[in-house]
Amino acid sequence: MTSATLGTIARNLLAVRARMLEAALQAGREPASVRLLAVSKGFPASAVAEAHAAGQFEFGENYLQEALPKLASLKRLADLEWHFIGTLQGNKTRPVAENFAWVHAIDRERIAQRLSHQRPAWLPALNVCIEVRLGEEPGKSGVAPELVPVLARHIAELPRLRLRGLMCIPPPADDTEVQRARFRRMRELFEMLKQDVQQLDTLSMGMSGDYQAAILEGATMIRVGSAIFGQRPSQRS
Ligand SMILES: *Cc1c(COP(=O)(O)O)cnc(C)c1O
Repeated sequence: MTSATLGTIARNLLAVRARMLEAALQAGREPASVRLLAVSKGFPASAVAEAHAAGQFEFGENYLQEALPKLASLKRLADLEWHFIGTLQGNKTRPVAENFAWVHAIDRERIAQRLSHQRPAWLPALNVCIEVRLGEEPGKSGVAPELVPVLARHIAELPRLRLRGLMCIPPPADDTEVQRARFRRMRELFEMLKQDVQQLDTLSMGMSGDYQAAILEGATMIRVGSAIFGQRPSQRS
């Protein structure tokens, strides 16, 4: 190498993109049909800037308190696209509606209504996904699969939201067949919903540990944090 050696983040991004390509080809899918969301929670604005310099534009954040100062300090990078992927509380919707392009984890009608109402008129409609609960654990967030169509129809009526699809965070599984079966179930739910609500194009699933399996089963957006930025300093989730 000459004077310009690649930094760790740039190298990790290349490695993740290579594995994405491999999974897409294995599935016989168009590589461009899968988007990479870089999850920067737990990492400073400088890490985002480094990923941006390496050609990454879409970033995900989970915690508002952490995200808002980070977004503000990166305002100069006008082509960043911010996705809120955390659990959203009813009293925190306004800053999300005002600062993000996407919200991935909608699980209640009331949250959707508030976001639509609070989305500033000068911004395009807010892109949203419904979070689906795959496991049976009572404490898990997300909507039970059988309740997704009702919520989807409701969101599709809201003027300032644009329903794009579904997201999930499946429970960890060592068995790749179990993992793939869960992603497949999401894909089936997504295909069913598409007959009901047109315009859906996003299946947000797959993280550092399982994104290749997710791509094999039809993910159109994967959310990858530690495989790009490294182990999170404060391993909160
Ligand atoms: C943290 C997080 C990710 C990224 O997780 P990694 O395992 O670091 O890739 C993806 N999606 C959601 C909802 C998250 O909270």
